Amino acid sequence: MPVIDVAVPVPLRQTFSYTCESKLAAGVRVSVPFGRRQLIGVVTASYDDPPGADDSTPALKPVSEVLDEQPLFDRTLLSLTDWLASYYHHPVGEVWATVMPSRLRKGSPLSDKSPAYTLTEAGEQEALSKTLKGKKQLECIALLASGPMAQEEVKSRFSSAVLKALEEKALITATTIAHKASADWSSFTLQQTPPTASTEQGVAIAAINQQAHHFVPYLLDGVTGSGKTEVYLQVIEPVLKQGKQVLILVPEIGLTPQTVGRFERRFGITVGVLHSQMTDLARLNVWQQARRGELGIIIGTRSAIFTPLKRPGMIIVDEEHDESFKQQDGLRYHARDLAVKRAHSENVPLILGSATPSLESLNNALNKRYTHLTLSQRAGGASHTQLKVLDSRDQPLHAGIAQGLVSIMRSHLQQGNQVLVFLNRRGFAPAVICHHCGQTVDCKSCERPFTYHKSQGRLQCHHCGASRRLPEQCGECHSHDLQTSGIGTEQLEHGLGTLFPDVKQVRIDSDAVKGKDKLITRLDEINARKYQLLVGTQILSKGHHFPHVTLVVVLDCDGALFSADFRAAEKLAQLITQLAGRAGRANKPGEMWLQTDNPGHPLLQDLINNGFAHFARQALQERKLALLPPYSSQAIFRAEANEAGLALNFLQQVRDCYRPSVNAAKGGFIGPLPCLIEKRQGRFRFMLVLQCPQRGALHSWLKHHLKEVESLPLANKVRWSLDIDPVDL
Ligand code: ADP
Ligand code: ZN
Ligand code: ZN
Repeated sequence: MPVIDVAVPVPLRQTFSYTCESKLAAGVRVSVPFGRRQLIGVVTASYDDPPGADDSTPALKPVSEVLDEQPLFDRTLLSLTDWLASYYHHPVGEVWATVMPSRLRKGSPLSDKSPAYTLTEAGEQEALSKTLKGKKQLECIALLASGPMAQEEVKSRFSSAVLKALEEKALITATTIAHKASADWSSFTLQQTPPTASTEQGVAIAAINQQAHHFVPYLLDGVTGSGKTEVYLQVIEPVLKQGKQVLILVPEIGLTPQTVGRFERRFGITVGVLHSQMTDLARLNVWQQARRGELGIIIGTRSAIFTPLKRPGMIIVDEEHDESFKQQDGLRYHARDLAVKRAHSENVPLILGSATPSLESLNNALNKRYTHLTLSQRAGGASHTQLKVLDSRDQPLHAGIAQGLVSIMRSHLQQGNQVLVFLNRRGFAPAVICHHCGQTVDCKSCERPFTYHKSQGRLQCHHCGASRRLPEQCGECHSHDLQTSGIGTEQLEHGLGTLFPDVKQVRIDSDAVKGKDKLITRLDEINARKYQLLVGTQILSKGHHFPHVTLVVVLDCDGALFSADFRAAEKLAQLITQLAGRAGRANKPGEMWLQTDNPGHPLLQDLINNGFAHFARQALQERKLALLPPYSSQAIFRAEANEAGLALNFLQQVRDCYRPSVNAAKGGFIGPLPCLIEKRQGRFRFMLVLQCPQRGALHSWLKHHLKEVESLPLANKVRWSLDIDPVDL
């Protein structure tokens, strides 16, 4: 009997064999017995005679049910799935569980049929005799007399009461019909005349159009507002015209109706949207439409990179530096890296766009692995924002803002312009301190100070989410003299209200603005000039243009200047540059002030005097000297446990597993040492970094000892994970 290998959703780095009536194609779902459970897995291979089987091989269990007639994925996505399992050293069953829409994971049929209504025999009679009283019911019967119709469509015309009545009278009944292919989108006509491309845009568009039929990776390195999106719009037009599909990845926060609307308005075709807040059913629908080739443009967040495409034509990753492209649990993939991999195997062009490219992508561009396209001018003649540093040492502060800056803010506000104040810390105060003994009020399970949220009168831990009432006295010395320390956005808003009592103000952070709809409303209100003063966290730094903002104030960037994370400088430079890009438009030049106690810091000086592009090249030089990524490859083993000793011990043993071949791999270790957030939710966290100059060497080194690691007795006692190409410590 044929034997099949199945990837089962369990945390084991192997497949499992079953017998089956006939061989099955890879990518077909099957239901199989696993221990005492019944699980849905995916076929990875089939054999007439399983390799290495003989009489002593234990009898295999049979497959319980075959769920699909055809594989879920085409060959390219199948091999991408294999690649994921091997590159991320991740259990293949869990890889499949990640790449599939959750409905399919749970066994929903992959069908080209949709639910429909049809007339029963009695219904057909009724269509002729027309004896029914209800007018609507009669209309529905008349409609279905011409044949079955999709339930979706019927429900859009008749109320559920009408349909229920007809079903109860057994005049109509549920059935299925073959999916009706939607209109051919490739015959669209442009709904808008595109603006004339600038010279730089023209060069980029021509370069991409010239080689539109095979894999070419581009880095579209364009300052904010330089018209990158316009470049996307113009290069995808010929791709769509050929009936080929375009997949566009955007950061979580960038996926707004405005973004989608820009593509829909240009081409007048339906854009498929995929993001994490959709229902499972809606996601599956878009997934299937993309797979059948019925959508020309699919825009989605991280996991949209797994969307099957019938006729792939181009892949675009917008804001490619954004951290939301990296999954931070389970299969820790990077959607940008996958996009490169996928475009290569689909043999289609790839565009990575950003105003602040990641050092990885910039390095690839400078090395000519990617074609480097630059847009250095803002579209429509807008000028660049000027960056300046304000030395806050020894200055009196008002609501955390230096006196000098308050005057600058006042003059911008008096001219009727908007001012954006950025502070990346929500809540009223980041700590509550006993004035008598100096003890902070800490979250017990994270050993970090609670943040005080005044509006709720509560303390909240920003690491684990724990919350409690503000205590009346110090837990150490019982003094009643508790005071807040430091400033968060809630307090800043309050302070600004006192400084500028007549100015309308809005706060944008995840406490004040819950949910995407509310955010979009607020952003629209800002651009309609309902507010003059905008206060907020990094939500304000991404993707949105504020044409009336002429001044951006950044408070407290000093923390990032001295972080232990070697990427902190890159992240801060990206943040500052992105924020600067929010301000100023055609006739309103903007300025940006960074308030700091370290005005002479080389990073700030470089950014201010030379701009991001120079900073980034400088930072690459430093990474090269220090042999840090992208000049080396890293992987991190992380472990957490209720006892610090267990997690640390485990990682020491992991290091011992890898030590014998450290020289052969030309590798090195950092740690084990505590993570930047040492304790969370009562668990102590440690990490061990493995690093090699060569990516390939790192991977064979990792692979060579992973089985040993898995069989360490402590491996079952701690929670551990492996993170390839980590972006966070
Ligand atoms: P980015 O994606 O780089 O932030 P956008 O494509 O959103 O830039 O362009 C910024 C603004 O400039 C938009 O309002 C856009 O419509 C406009 N724009 C882009 N290219 C041109 C052009 N060639 N001529 C006139 N306006 C343009
Ligand atoms: Zn005290
Ligand atoms: Zn906590």
